[in-house]
Amino acid sequence: MSHNAELFERAQRVIPGGVNSPVRAFRSVGGTPRFITRAAGAHVWDADGRRYTDYVGSWGPAILGHADAEVVEAVQRAAADGLSFGAPTEREIEMAELLVDMLPSLEMVRLVSSGTEATMSAIRLARGFTGRDAIVKFEGCYHGHADSLLVKAGSGLLTFGNPSSGGVPADFARHTLVLDFNNLAALEECFATRGDTLACVIIEPVAGNMNLVRPAQAYMERLRALCTEHGVVLIFDEVMTGFRVGPTGAQGLYGITPDLTTLGKIIGGGMPVGAFGGRRDIMRQVAPLGTVYQAGTLSGSPVAVAAGLTTLRRLRAPGFYASLAARTTALTEGLAAAAARRGVAFSAQAVGAMFGLYFSATPPQGFAEVMGADRERFNRFFHLMLEAGHYFAPSAFEAGFVSAAHTEADITATIAAAEAAFAQL
Ligand SMILES: *Cc1c(COP(=O)(O)O)cnc(C)c1O
Repeated sequence: MSHNAELFERAQRVIPGGVNSPVRAFRSVGGTPRFITRAAGAHVWDADGRRYTDYVGSWGPAILGHADAEVVEAVQRAAADGLSFGAPTEREIEMAELLVDMLPSLEMVRLVSSGTEATMSAIRLARGFTGRDAIVKFEGCYHGHADSLLVKAGSGLLTFGNPSSGGVPADFARHTLVLDFNNLAALEECFATRGDTLACVIIEPVAGNMNLVRPAQAYMERLRALCTEHGVVLIFDEVMTGFRVGPTGAQGLYGITPDLTTLGKIIGGGMPVGAFGGRRDIMRQVAPLGTVYQAGTLSGSPVAVAAGLTTLRRLRAPGFYASLAARTTALTEGLAAAAARRGVAFSAQAVGAMFGLYFSATPPQGFAEVMGADRERFNRFFHLMLEAGHYFAPSAFEAGFVSAAHTEADITATIAAAEAAFAQL
């Protein structure tokens, strides 16, 4: 039995499903998860000693590549000075100043330890600020696992949602309205009938948790205008897109200013850091200044923040995003060309350094099209690539990520392996 299989068996005895986050269990694609023993640059190694070119990047944080020497050194130096104090540090101010400087929509920011905490806190803040309970999210967007966000659409277009997880009271889900992403008519109708009762709209400005779906520019502009008109707090959940699609996130890319932004993943550089921030008048409602309670024993952890700060500073190097985007586009264009040579209906697209792969002739525009994708074909492709040493997300419904450590040779090798895989589909 392989070491991976042995570890998986052992893990399942004491950890539900053998994993600490469900997608790691390979349930969507089947087979045995690879237990990772180490990672460096663009590569990870599993318990059987096999090396993979990694396009998961810890689900986004590893934008510099794994175990970047400067980030690791910053962590080691910070750790030597103490792991956590439960009292403020100067490094937290540096981190907040840097974030406020990088994202023009942030006037104040608070650090937390995960993306889930960031979105949960931003929603509580929007409710406290507006004095309204109802929130809007979009089908297929993921914002972490807070109760009011684990909700799927109700039976009618404008009926409130149903829990998408056990353990979420229907009473909570009743405050969440779930709309169809990129559907302008549904958005208009929602605001016309309920606009003045909504606390906030939360959206992934480039959806990356239903494969990758780009928003229509006009849709985002209309969303911004409707929120302003009705006094609704617009929350951009940039936990994935923040500093992934470009130096000013999706908000910079689309030229839209949200009221609040949630961040995570990249801003921790591989350590647990999240953040929420935005308009000063809203952020001043957060305790201890205001009445909206939010706290965290390990928030602003000096070690985690050291990793985040070092990572974010590196992103400001001239040309960083241009070369990263060029490499990501080389991957998506190379894969699409290889599929075309093999007669496979396939498309791919990149936004900055995130990408989507689709077993359909054109990229999807919304949730229904994503769900209509040929999942079996993706699963076969995934396993052929894994066997050949190329590690894509183990699900047809996740975006992929390229890091600054991926070389042209890595990308070329992946495209060659994909061409062989397409030929076998
Ligand atoms: C990953 C993710 C989250 C949740 O972040 P965690 O750190 O896993 O809690 C929230 N929103 C988006 C858009 C994400 O991609």
